[in-house]
Amino acid sequence: MSVAVATVGDILSVEQAREGVLGTIDRTVEVEVIATADALGRVLAGPVRAATALPPWDNSAMDGYAIRSEDVATATEDNPVRLDVVGEARAGSQPDAPVSPGRALRIATGAPLPWGADAVVPVELTTPLGPDDEPSGPRGRDATGPLPAACLVHQRIPIGGSIRRAGSDIAADTILLDGGSSLTAAGIALSAGAGVPRVAVHRRVRVAVLATGDEVRGPDEPMGPAGIPDANGPGLRALVTASGADAIDLGIARDLLDDVSRRLEAGISAGADVIIVSGGVSVGPYDVVKTAFDALGQIDLWRVAVQPGKPFTFGTAPRPGGRGSPVLLFGLPGNPVSSFVTFELFVRPAVRRLAGQRSLLRPVDRGVLRERVSKSAGRRAFIRVVADRDPAGAPVRDSKGRVSVRLAGGQAGQGSHVLSALAVADALAVVPEVAESVRAGTAVDLWWLDRD
Ligand code: AMP
Ligand code: MG
Repeated sequence: MSVAVATVGDILSVEQAREGVLGTIDRTVEVEVIATADALGRVLAGPVRAATALPPWDNSAMDGYAIRSEDVATATEDNPVRLDVVGEARAGSQPDAPVSPGRALRIATGAPLPWGADAVVPVELTTPLGPDDEPSGPRGRDATGPLPAACLVHQRIPIGGSIRRAGSDIAADTILLDGGSSLTAAGIALSAGAGVPRVAVHRRVRVAVLATGDEVRGPDEPMGPAGIPDANGPGLRALVTASGADAIDLGIARDLLDDVSRRLEAGISAGADVIIVSGGVSVGPYDVVKTAFDALGQIDLWRVAVQPGKPFTFGTAPRPGGRGSPVLLFGLPGNPVSSFVTFELFVRPAVRRLAGQRSLLRPVDRGVLRERVSKSAGRRAFIRVVADRDPAGAPVRDSKGRVSVRLAGGQAGQGSHVLSALAVADALAVVPEVAESVRAGTAVDLWWLDRD
């Protein structure tokens, strides 16, 4: 077996392992141009620039009348100013006429401001007049119905009143969004609203997932006397989807080299950029995954000083035809919590780098452990924790801004097989290598897990 990265004391730190993985990725996946409307969650391959100013032209912020501010300079509630209404400015059309002294145009929200007008008086501050100069409706009547012949304006309106100026939201050619960020719903509205119908994004990364284990059973398969249901296949595929990639299901392999190798090859043929295998990477008699990786390509690193997840294995295999960057092979420990944590630590950042994302790691928060916890000395522990919450559901922070956290499922919940504790955890708390146990009140780094 060839191990390409030298290991200190035969075991890698979390950083060494992550750098070793990321160092094999020298390019991102291909770029494609797709409809902005279809790009939710996709990673932008470059900056998005506004194709138009927003608003593109001066328009009205209110339903009312387009006027000249100086015409109504003396208007008060009891001494209104009378203006002739000479036409209309509707949304989606050119205004009927310009506004000249003593005249107004009825205008709708979003309609272009007519030439000559420098303000809009909201309809609430007017009274409509008929051809006989008598009120044709009550003071402040809404602007529906036939066009009045004239109107009374009951308040002075400053220049620019109720006008949305061209470019006041976005100037043309402004960079709206940076490359390497993923599109949110608001980002889609912003791009589409600034006249950008298509965006250049990275294609989705394809990640194949293979569970292994003679004891592992698929959905609806009989358990038999020694079977367990497959947690890792579905769990890892969900983590893949949540990280913005496409998941490919390679099923469940027996603990046989041939079966594992055949399924890895199927993953490569299916165009996987990444293959994740769970189980079979430890030192048991039937742990064949490392041998399968070695046969297909090479093992780049193995064994990390992390708890849970020590047997973590990483390798690379050439793509069919030898072109393009290698396929990344992740061997995650079979215990479900270990596979989950090692996905977070090593697979997710790699998928994000392949996908063209600029930021690779989750933001780190500060927490305080409210309970004692024991761990293995010499390994960095990623403890599953639950945040204390106030009655509104917000995490409770101390005077230094640190989140108060407790062990999910207590100390017993920290076993690498304890799914019930993983499922209630809000975050991973990081406990350094040196300690064998830490006291209640210890400050920790916190990685929030994806959830509301
Ligand atoms: P291994 O890494 O293959 O030695 O497996 C470690 C532990 O994780 C064993 O108790 C396995 O039964 C369990 N395990 C392995 N794969 C899965 C899986 N896909 N779903 C649930 N448990 C698993
Ligand atoms: Mg196994």
